[in-house]
Amino acid sequence: MTVLPPGPAVMLRYGEVFLKSDPVRREFTNTLVRNCREALRSEGLSPAERITRGRIFFCGEPAGQVAAVLSRIFGVVDVAECTLTPPDPGAVTEAAVARARASAGPAKTFAVRARREGDFGMTSQELAARVGSAVLAACPGITVDLDNPDYELYVELRQTGGVVYDRRIPAPGGLPLGTQGRVLALLSPGIDSPVAAWLMMKRGCEIVALHVSHGDGEGPSTLPGTLRNLAILSGWCRGFPLRLFVADAGPFYEKLAGLHNQRFTCVLCKRFMLRLGTLLARREGIAALCTGDNLGQVASQTLANMVVISNAAGIPVFRPLITFDKQEIVTLARKIGTFDERPGDLSCPFVPGVPATTSREDEIRTLEESLGTDALLPGILGNALEYVACNGGVTRRSP
Ligand code: ATP
Ligand code: MG
Repeated sequence: MTVLPPGPAVMLRYGEVFLKSDPVRREFTNTLVRNCREALRSEGLSPAERITRGRIFFCGEPAGQVAAVLSRIFGVVDVAECTLTPPDPGAVTEAAVARARASAGPAKTFAVRARREGDFGMTSQELAARVGSAVLAACPGITVDLDNPDYELYVELRQTGGVVYDRRIPAPGGLPLGTQGRVLALLSPGIDSPVAAWLMMKRGCEIVALHVSHGDGEGPSTLPGTLRNLAILSGWCRGFPLRLFVADAGPFYEKLAGLHNQRFTCVLCKRFMLRLGTLLARREGIAALCTGDNLGQVASQTLANMVVISNAAGIPVFRPLITFDKQEIVTLARKIGTFDERPGDLSCPFVPGVPATTSREDEIRTLEESLGTDALLPGILGNALEYVACNGGVTRRSP
């Protein structure tokens, strides 16, 4: 049994991993601990770890810094700066009083939330009452309000030790990164695609990103915004490199511009992107693609067009935002940090005036054959540049 060393620490709670069978849970917990360790190490922090059921404790480094890093790790439900005590109701009560004295501040009301496992001669309620009475005696003027308190004090008592804390910092939840394989995320400078990539990461997928650029001179460069999105995403997998391939599809767009009928431009463009993605994914041993598509958002994202577009991919395409409202995406983008209040002009120079909202695959195939765009794929992919982001910084890989 792990006995917790008394003193200041950071407590991390992890949730869904607990629904798994024993071997899977062990594997997922190990991955979670490894991810935490790498993220902390990449920030120069090497706290000691103690793993208990549903909780991991980190001791011996500045708690604020440790908590800030851990609150951005997938698989973590929340983190709290806490005080660890010996497994004894008296010790826990003393630590709770000390914490309330230090941090209850101007609070007029408080509540104790107690949790007890094991035989300490009292129930959880009795523990809460004991701690509550001690706080009432130590902090004059404060009263108990269990329904809507200004200040909440959490007390946990187990054979492994006591834990006291008063603030839970929410973390993203989900599954530990790396437990669900790898996905190739199609990344743009826009709002949707980084949110989609983040959601796949949240569910445990490692991401490799692909950006398709228009080529020189065609509208404003999409690269700076895409690199910005990549850099911010890398803050959610600290300690691990996040790779991006940037493919210059200028030769493809030149052919597209020559089309007599421009109504199918977006369908052709998105099919080309999925083909490029499939090729890259196969080269990198990646099993699926991910996009920020959202039902009905633009002409290329009607159900009919998405079916035709999907058929160009040789591997599954995941679209985590398919049912979101725009406002829900924006709210999530703000939380992730990718929402740009002043994004500048990101409009695509190739979008036609009246894009088709439906298309027939046989007609689209005929157009693709007449343009000969498939033949361009290997060259465009072969010339792609590679960037790597780590902890918010991006570098270009040579050459
Ligand atoms: P976003 O959807 O990310 O806000 P967007 O509006 O420019 O950007 P859409 O036209 O909605 O993109 O395209 C749908 C999806 O196609 C994007 O979410 C993204 O996954 C992918 N995509 C779009 N443009 C590019 C690009 N230049 N390179 C790679 N993928 C792209
Ligand atoms: Mg979009």
